[in-house]
Amino acid sequence: MENLSNISVIRELCERFGFSFSKSLGQNFLINPTVCPRIAEMGGAGKGVGAIEIGTGFGILTHELALRADKVVAIELDSRLLPVLAYTLKEHENIKVINQDVLKVDMKKLIEEEFAGMDVVVCANLPYYITSPVIMALLEQRLPIKSVTVMVQKEAAARLCAPMPSRDCGAVTAAVRYYSEPKVLFPVGRGSFMPAPNVDSCVIRLDIRQQLLLPEEEEKNLFRVVKGAFSQRRKTLQNTLSSSLKIGKAEVAAALEQIGQKPTARAEELSLEELIALSKIIR
Ligand code: SAM
Repeated sequence: MENLSNISVIRELCERFGFSFSKSLGQNFLINPTVCPRIAEMGGAGKGVGAIEIGTGFGILTHELALRADKVVAIELDSRLLPVLAYTLKEHENIKVINQDVLKVDMKKLIEEEFAGMDVVVCANLPYYITSPVIMALLEQRLPIKSVTVMVQKEAAARLCAPMPSRDCGAVTAAVRYYSEPKVLFPVGRGSFMPAPNVDSCVIRLDIRQQLLLPEEEEKNLFRVVKGAFSQRRKTLQNTLSSSLKIGKAEVAAALEQIGQKPTARAEELSLEELIALSKIIR
């Protein structure tokens, strides 16, 4: 295997395959040799496990996943990377590369067809502009997966993994926490990438809840309440919920009282369990 954390090797590969980094595809490749083994280990790649990787770049993480997992399916949008990957990953027989936009892949079908009988984990170092849509798409489809381990911008990690209640949480925090138990794993500085981005990052892992907290038909109502509650985070729930859900302030106050909260409470003061309880009262 080529040493993909060596800048000269990367330059040589770029030259040999006529490849140049695309800013619009968020191509900042990892060059810190300690990061990918940690993502693969902490992301759960191991015996009996199938790993889905999103955004392979030159294959530095794909390689670490293939060393540990039974099988890796790697989804990469940029077709210019296919010949590079055929070369850098040639020693592995347990990798399948799919040249597609991850947001257009039928993940349920892919998991059924490629990973029968295996536990499945997802690992990704994605362009930052698609991290949230990809995370939410993976969570909302209720895929049969164990975890999603992903590199995100440091500020996004704080929001996605914020404790509830806390000042850092928002509607996305509640959604992530509804589907999973999120953890910040470790920080990754901007110097770990080539080319270096102008932000720092963190690797987070979302351990998917295998048992959901609400029946599917009640989820829509919960997310309506969550969206309304966090629509103006600094305002009281009495104000935000009565205007977003078109109900009386007294009704919101009574519902808050039922869950043991003051009428002046703000969304950031409620736990996920309290938001769920509130959504059961306000329908
Ligand atoms: N995993 C590699 C690494 O760590 O060095 C590459 C990471 S780079 C930040 C993101 C990768 O995602 C790029 O290879 C890019 O081409 C790919 N990508 C961008 N948008 C994508 C999409 N919609 N679907 C699949 N891959 C995508």
